Amino acid sequence: MPSVNLTTFEQECRAFLEANARPLNRGTTQWGVGDDSLSAYAAIEPAADLARVQAAKRWKGLEFDAGFGWLSGPTSAGGAGLSAEHERLYLSMRSEYELADLGVFVISLGMVASTFQTFGAPEVQALVPQLHRGDLIGCQLFSEPGAGSDLASLTTKAERDGDEWVITGQKVWTSVAHHSDWGLLLARSESKPSKHDGLTAFALDMRTPGVEVRPLEMMTRGREFNEVFFDNVRISDSRRLGEAGKGWRTAIATLMNERALGAAGNDLFGVERCLERLRLTLQQPGMGGDDPVIRQQFARAYSMAQMIRYQAMAADARREAGLPAGPAESVFKLANTNTLRQIVDLAGAIWGPRVIADTGEWGAYSWADMILTMPGMRIAGGTDEVMRNILSERVLGMPKEPVA
Ligand SMILES: Cc1cc2nc3c(=O)[nH]c(=O)nc-3n(C[C@H](O)[C@H](O)[C@H](O)COP(=O)(O)OP(=O)(O)OC[C@H]3O[C@@H](n4cnc5c(N)ncnc54)[C@H](O)[C@@H]3O)c2cc1C
Repeated sequence: MPSVNLTTFEQECRAFLEANARPLNRGTTQWGVGDDSLSAYAAIEPAADLARVQAAKRWKGLEFDAGFGWLSGPTSAGGAGLSAEHERLYLSMRSEYELADLGVFVISLGMVASTFQTFGAPEVQALVPQLHRGDLIGCQLFSEPGAGSDLASLTTKAERDGDEWVITGQKVWTSVAHHSDWGLLLARSESKPSKHDGLTAFALDMRTPGVEVRPLEMMTRGREFNEVFFDNVRISDSRRLGEAGKGWRTAIATLMNERALGAAGNDLFGVERCLERLRLTLQQPGMGGDDPVIRQQFARAYSMAQMIRYQAMAADARREAGLPAGPAESVFKLANTNTLRQIVDLAGAIWGPRVIADTGEWGAYSWADMILTMPGMRIAGGTDEVMRNILSERVLGMPKEPVA
């Protein structure tokens, strides 16, 4: 188990990472070397996608077995029982190394695992260490064709039948469902005057008969998300997450964790990655590094990224003090997407037509995937407009929008 003492802990992290991963060689020497892709949603062949997931699972297994896989998790449940500060330190050190792409675990660990742990019966909680070890992957089955921002309007039905529930309906935009073993499902179990009542949440084994996952292609030609259909899918009541009819509480706790993800020091949105690429670009001759307007725009994006980092540390401290993630964490989603937009716009201005026609020039056309990913980022996990509503109404106490 890693040590509590931070100095010893840091040495242990370094020893583990040095023994198991190659350090990233950041700096100008990297320009023009290796794969220049930037977006996590870039097109990928199914076989390569599978190999990517397997490599990610191998890394998670290694990390978990060495005690670094679930640092802030309770020891009683298989975690290391350390603080958010230990976790942040480890993640920051880990980012200095070349690792497998761990994107497939973002939802699984950032949302599904914590909701299973908080709301699940022992049978469901027993899955959590396996999720952290990467043996299992989880997805979030919330959005439907008619229920995204207005999630409580969802219509997937859960009908009680003895000790089981029968699920019928459809979800959409379900990230990584095609790689998932378990789903965190929100369904309507009763029709109530208030649409926030009568919902029930479940842990769904994705291999249950009647579950069908159909991949959707994104405009980057990546295939990261899916439609998921349920045709009389049976779930044992022991896999219910929270009280029947009170699934909105489970959903809100999950969404708060989703909002907090942008603060988790994992560069979820790619702000750090893209900023570093832009910095390297501006160092190349004739790429605008000496243009005062471009320098100013770069400085603005850099300052925003620094602010996100410091706000993330403050959010960690709040969690450390036992405060749950709250609506104020919506600021991370908004700040990350706004900053990324500034970076992507600046890259577009610097490279010009070379971001839309592949000239083979290293570091140019790879921005195309990022430009095409940007609209999805502003929608996924709550749109910019919805984040602004949450911040204005629930954090700043401004009046609610009048209902038409
Ligand atoms: C890349 C990606 C990954 C995703 N992954 C998942 C996943 O794994 N699991 C999952 O369950 N869902 C997932 N989603 C779905 C995502 O949560 C929804 O797309 C999002 O909540 C918006 O819902 P919607 O698409 O139905 O749009 P709508 O809610 O129909 O919104 C349409 C437009 O109306 C605006 N709008 C809506 N309500 C208001 C309001 N009250 N005030 C002002 N403007 C408003 C929105 O901002 C938006 O511009 C993903 C989406 C994307 C793009």
